[in-house]
Amino acid sequence: MFSKDYNGLCRTRVYENRYGEKTSIGRGNLSFTTINLPKLAIEAAIEDGYLKQVDGVWQFDESKLNQEDVMGRIARFWSKLEGMVELAGKQLDERFQYQKTALAKQFPLLMSGMWNGSENLKPNDNIEPVLNQGTLGIGFIGLAEALISLLGRHHGEDKIAQAVGLKTVQLMNDVKNRVCDKYQHNYAILATPAEGLSGYFTRIDKKEFGEIPGVTDKDYYTNSNHVPVYYKCTPQHKAEIECPYHKLTTGGHIFYVEVDANMTKNPEAIDVINKIARENDGGYISINHNQGRCPYCNYESNELNIDNCPHCGTKMDVLARITGYLVSTTDRWNSGKKAELDDRVNHI
Ligand SMILES: [Zn+2]
Repeated sequence: MFSKDYNGLCRTRVYENRYGEKTSIGRGNLSFTTINLPKLAIEAAIEDGYLKQVDGVWQFDESKLNQEDVMGRIARFWSKLEGMVELAGKQLDERFQYQKTALAKQFPLLMSGMWNGSENLKPNDNIEPVLNQGTLGIGFIGLAEALISLLGRHHGEDKIAQAVGLKTVQLMNDVKNRVCDKYQHNYAILATPAEGLSGYFTRIDKKEFGEIPGVTDKDYYTNSNHVPVYYKCTPQHKAEIECPYHKLTTGGHIFYVEVDANMTKNPEAIDVINKIARENDGGYISINHNQGRCPYCNYESNELNIDNCPHCGTKMDVLARITGYLVSTTDRWNSGKKAELDDRVNHI
């Protein structure tokens, strides 16, 4: 919930402030709501006939990839998205209206000067002036699957898809600015980490629509504006595609590279990844290397999908990064995230 400095512990970023200093200190992200982009795109594609069922199997109609049809389909998608950003803004405001009724004395620690302005509150004052300085996140998941639903290809593999992706998040930002003025809060667009939603939205959409190739045919949606985890590309390409979204997602974002080795033995590679991210305006980056260790014989491995120790057969303890955090023993991940891990490819 809190970010002590610019990026704090995770990708969540607290910056915009119409009620005071633009700082991350003494403020927090109050709540966030995530929009399911693939669902809106699937609806637009079905309505326009690009996505249709033939003998119970979903197919994309290639004859609808001409410019006029594509533009019409994208306009449909954007119109739905615009309404959804407005609705998320309204919902976050309604939650805020409840949150602000709390009294300072209900938060003896936070309101003891930890949050900006709380030092001026008396025990029975409500906390609105302090909460006003917090941010509200409007997030999104599955840009990649949304683009596949609309164009048949995601933004990592197609220039037009990338242009549509950037315009989509720009649109979210424009609507968000209107919502800020309407409700007088610090809203920010967030590249949602989606620890839980990753599998949840996909399950719901699979139930409603069935299996749509490249979209609902796996157990998770791709994190925010990332290229799909199964998509094999260089760190350079990944940075060129993903980092331009960072300036549009001031509520938080992350660019990461999966590597197949122990990076403590290769600091030069860290420099290179850092450099390509900075050259592409990356705001927050991470380098994921997996570390597996046999709890019985101490055998170590950097392999992505290793189950049992090759020496003694004991189940390996694997440390991997799930969204923003390094988590040990992937058994504790939820099913959507586990399926995503199985599909991950290394970029170096
Ligand atoms: Zn072993």
